[in-house]
Amino acid sequence: MIRENIDSVEKMVEDSCRRAGRNRDEVLLVAVSKTKPLSMLQEAYEAGIRDFGENKVQELMDKIPSMPEDVRWHMIGHLQTNKVKYLVGRVAMIHSVDSLHLAEEISRQGVKQNVTVDILVEVNVAGEESKYGVTMEEAPALVEQIAALPNIHVRGLMTIAPFTEIPEENRIFFQKLKQLSIDIEQKSIDNVSMSVLSMGMTGDYCTAIEEGSTCVRVGTGIFGERIYQ
Ligand SMILES: *Cc1c(COP(=O)(O)O)cnc(C)c1O
Repeated sequence: MIRENIDSVEKMVEDSCRRAGRNRDEVLLVAVSKTKPLSMLQEAYEAGIRDFGENKVQELMDKIPSMPEDVRWHMIGHLQTNKVKYLVGRVAMIHSVDSLHLAEEISRQGVKQNVTVDILVEVNVAGEESKYGVTMEEAPALVEQIAALPNIHVRGLMTIAPFTEIPEENRIFFQKLKQLSIDIEQKSIDNVSMSVLSMGMTGDYCTAIEEGSTCVRVGTGIFGERIYQ
């Protein structure tokens, strides 16, 4: 079941890349495995997935030792500063940095463990009250402030678009995030690259790829619906 799902997501990713005149290797597929049991992650791994996304530190810590070492873990959920120490050195990327305070703690832990941490700044493009992330207006200054910190590297931007049945409705938000990344890139800030644009989920990843996404985070489309207790 999971293998079939991955095959069909993969095909959609390829089709979207083709439509947009992009190479397939410009887009990373992150399988969002939050709430799902290890057996399902293992199935995805056997089907070729190496990038997994989780949104809770505890769950991530529980899963890491049980999966092969070549898995790249992506922290995609809201992060509290007191939990940063568990993540640094263990995850490939933190997608959800939305304050200087949090970035400072990541930097501090990076220095302590002598690693450089790749992060994305999360932007609440649609301005939804229920969502984390800085505003479009705040983002450039935050990127600049983070760039001045040691052992932390801003790789790009991330957004969670509104939940919708109609992916076309989110196109405007993907366009806005892409434009924001271009604007920030043009400032040529030291220690900052805008090479990653983490946008697109099960409901809208094709549209996100058409608008320049380099990283789609697909959960339901691979593992099925999540059941929360
Ligand atoms: C849960 C989650 C996803 C995956 O959502 P699906 O709609 O199941 O694909 C992607 N990104 C973030 C930040 C999430 O929390």
